[in-house]
Amino acid sequence: MEIKPNHPSLALTKIPPNHLNIMGYVDESEVNGPGCRAVVWVQGCPRECPSCFNPESWSFEINQLIAVDTLAENILKNPRNTGVTFSGGEPFWQASALASLAGKLKAAGLSVMSFTGFTLKQLQSKSAPPGSQELLAQLDILIDGPFVESLAIHSPNSPVSSSNQRVNVFNPALKDQITWASDQIEVHILKDGSRIVTGYQGSLELS
Ligand code: SF4
Repeated sequence: MEIKPNHPSLALTKIPPNHLNIMGYVDESEVNGPGCRAVVWVQGCPRECPSCFNPESWSFEINQLIAVDTLAENILKNPRNTGVTFSGGEPFWQASALASLAGKLKAAGLSVMSFTGFTLKQLQSKSAPPGSQELLAQLDILIDGPFVESLAIHSPNSPVSSSNQRVNVFNPALKDQITWASDQIEVHILKDGSRIVTGYQGSLELS
């Protein structure tokens, strides 16, 4: 396969081992998966879907580097986090580091969910980004497929944003907990006064 100069795998070489390049992180979200969850938005997505909710996440340039161990400690420090959700950006372009993070959090009893613009079939194929199988093996839930504007769903009862996306529940214990709605909004006021708005179809707004 020819690797183009702007291919994500080239940009990702700037990330030190056992680190993630993230767009943002929040604790105690109730609109990004079952229960009360930490949410990690990774930096970098090559898809450029029209009406993407987080276009600031497209660039693969370094935004915020964080060690996997540090992020795991931060998430586990808050006892209200019963799970973690990976969003983006495209989580599977940083699959190896996320698999390592997921392993540490699962060992502590948290559930792990991820969004992806890939389909599950693509992630299970040989052309999937490095580390995809390791990350898939850690997941309790995967919401797969890119956002397609013409198939958008605006419903208080839908956990997905467009009808092509699928909720894959790998952990049967969570089967009856697919109850969040993708068009809810949540505002987090941080200790330093800054604000994070999230929830609307996976969006992240920092101010
Ligand atoms: S896959 Fe998600 S993050 Fe990437 S461009 Fe599409 S909507 Fe945005």
